[in-house]
Amino acid sequence: MGLVRFMRMEMSNQLDKKEIFISGAPACPGIVIGDTSLYQRVRPNVSDTQIADDEAEDHIHKFYEALDVAEEELQVLLGNSELEESADLIQTQIAILKDPEMQDRVEQEISANNKPVDSAVESIFRNYLQVIQENHGGAFQNKSVDISDIRDRLLQIIHNKRDDIKEGTILVARELSPREVISFSNRNIKGLITDQGGATSHAAIIARSMNIPTVVGTQKATEVINFDDEVVLDGRNGEVVVNPKKETRQKYEHLITQQSKRKADFESLCKKPNETFDGKAFSLQANIEFAEELSIANKYQAEGVGLLRTESIYLSRKHFKNVDQQVAFYKSILELTTPHQVTIRLFDVGGDKFFGDEEKEQNPFLGWRGIRMLLEQPELLKNQLRAILETSADFMGRIRILVPMVSTIDEIYKLKNIIGEVQKELLNQGFDIDKNIPLGLMVEVPSVALKADLFASHADFLSVGTNDLTQYVLAVDRGNERISNLYDQRHPAIWRLIKEVAEAGERNEVPVSVCGELASDPIAASCLIGLGIDTLSMNAVVLPSVKQVLRSNSYIDMQQLAEKVLDAGTLDDIDNIFSNWETKE
Ligand code: PEP
Ligand code: MG
Repeated sequence: MGLVRFMRMEMSNQLDKKEIFISGAPACPGIVIGDTSLYQRVRPNVSDTQIADDEAEDHIHKFYEALDVAEEELQVLLGNSELEESADLIQTQIAILKDPEMQDRVEQEISANNKPVDSAVESIFRNYLQVIQENHGGAFQNKSVDISDIRDRLLQIIHNKRDDIKEGTILVARELSPREVISFSNRNIKGLITDQGGATSHAAIIARSMNIPTVVGTQKATEVINFDDEVVLDGRNGEVVVNPKKETRQKYEHLITQQSKRKADFESLCKKPNETFDGKAFSLQANIEFAEELSIANKYQAEGVGLLRTESIYLSRKHFKNVDQQVAFYKSILELTTPHQVTIRLFDVGGDKFFGDEEKEQNPFLGWRGIRMLLEQPELLKNQLRAILETSADFMGRIRILVPMVSTIDEIYKLKNIIGEVQKELLNQGFDIDKNIPLGLMVEVPSVALKADLFASHADFLSVGTNDLTQYVLAVDRGNERISNLYDQRHPAIWRLIKEVAEAGERNEVPVSVCGELASDPIAASCLIGLGIDTLSMNAVVLPSVKQVLRSNSYIDMQQLAEKVLDAGTLDDIDNIFSNWETKE
């Protein structure tokens, strides 16, 4: 292209298109610049006509053809070894397609009620979704997403609808299902922007596991952005710039260059030993909820899983009471983390993690939650313990059990009795279980931190959950936006309690780790190491940045940092100490 023409185009672009800034929640770090494709999940209008009796066969045939095409697409994704961790999710959708009851009901709807194929599919899936909604409220959200997603895909196939997503673009959508994210990753999509969804939605977690820079919850991206607009997506802080001006683009291009340099550094950094500048060893583990998160955890060399949250498994599985399904899930995690340890936390339902059937409480965070609920639901608890212990047979010495929301010693006594019963039953049935499976306690209620020696003497390990510990110590609801300025995990009172726990652990020879968000802040992580806590578990995405700071500082410096932090009176003091440490680097 001639220079004059190029300049004219640039100028007219700048005149025509206004630079617009929108923001959302950062869901996967990384900066990309590119043209957009708009993706609209087409849910074709279904026909409201009736078909003649002699057309039924043809419609049933179309239904099975659509099932075949949908399954074939899923099988292609299943065969992609890079998507190994998403296998569970894809299998679930294949199982929905193959469900003989669903197939019979659609056939019936066509042949007995003379519905055309699209309307039959729509109505049978609507029934399923209604049953789930009525029986389980919002708790089976993931399951509902999977079912409506596969319904929409079937309808698209029946109506021969295609999307017009271009390879190598940044995709903008109202919302995305996990399957859509997986299938787009196969089409070389550079980044994702969605109006809806939070950073912890399943689709966002999958985007993270595939390292696709993503911003979610922008509310208005699909309104503001057009096809082929140029956008900058900054997945580190959730910023999106539509039609960036030349200077904006240059600024981000510079950041991209730095980012790719850092990425290359990260890869070599992750291969280096986990030790401080002066050789003190530490261990970094991953907090996960889904198998999909393991690809990034493994890439960044996480030393196992320090916190496997099991709530969503519990909440999203139709047959969560089924021990075999739980075993299959735990096995999949252990197989993908060889030879490391996996710490499975018992269901921490309640608080903000509702499952719908129980009464609403006035103070759910102070209510029927974690171990309190489990001890009153013996069947649920025993099934989970059975599943964990059965799994342990194949992975001796690699599984640990973690108990959420402990506040009294009595809870430990009761739990140990139940574990003993389950172990006995399994041994009688001939299972070769791990009899010495370690039992650890979450330190997230102040009573446990304040009596840490006592609790340590009844546990094999302690794991400090600073997310809850902070809300209980500071009396600040962790999810309340209105007082979020008061919620800071680096509060001096929290450091004091962590120190007490670390010392109690040492006195009782019980390992102490931290799995709350505090460990994800590189300077706070240095301070934790300075306090003598050598195992930290965090969202895998931040692992390299934490490791970088830990490796470039000495243990003595970290101990001095911890001393200063323990002397601090206010959060401002902590801020100052942290900023001085940063400039020192
Ligand atoms: C915590 O409370 O710090 C924790 C790790 O658990 P969760 O965030 O799941 O409550
Ligand atoms: Mg917690």
